[in-house]
Amino acid sequence: MSQELEIVIASGNQGKIEEINHILKDSGVKILSLQDYPDIPPIVEDGHTFEENAVKKAETVCRFTCKISLADDSGLEVDALNGAPGVMSARYAGEGATKKDLCEKLLKAMEDVPDQERTARFRCVMAIAQPGRSTQTVSGECEGLIAHSMQGDYGFGYDPVFLVPSYRKTMAELGGEIKNRISHRALALNKARLILES
Ligand code: IMP
Repeated sequence: MSQELEIVIASGNQGKIEEINHILKDSGVKILSLQDYPDIPPIVEDGHTFEENAVKKAETVCRFTCKISLADDSGLEVDALNGAPGVMSARYAGEGATKKDLCEKLLKAMEDVPDQERTARFRCVMAIAQPGRSTQTVSGECEGLIAHSMQGDYGFGYDPVFLVPSYRKTMAELGGEIKNRISHRALALNKARLILES
């Protein structure tokens, strides 16, 4: 991959930017983010799917910066809640909710759900918008179970209540090294990386 390649991550979420940086750190890509472009107006995530939101963010930032832009939209789908919180994951406990608020609200909603019905997945859709080309999307999923209490300090969002069955630990207990290998975002980003390299 060219040393000169610059991409703008169309996100203001510091947790995500750090994970994307970590995964692309040896790729030779220079990572910029919305913090480098403070004049870009806020992008309203009003899509009904992760894909709609990711495409809207990537194309808006690409138009403003004239650079390749990578946007992700992601969230948690819980089977017992018919796929909720889904695209509403960030706002599930209201605007500005903390990791603790989100996890506590989810645990309350899952209070009476038996172990075998606590299946869930993190889903991530990434859109890559490039000047003069059509936008491409890739996706990644990470299957797990909703725990009965918060465990671990790493990460953000629902990490403390998302159990990864093969490790018998929550994402927040596994930490960055493992999360960045198995996460929905890592899987999508590895596919996005192939597109960027081509
Ligand atoms: P987005 O910024 O609109 O993509 O919102 C995604 C929301 O989904 C985040 O604010 C988190 O609440 C949740 N989420 C997405 N990815 C993760 C993850 O890797 N761990 C925990 N929560 C996540």
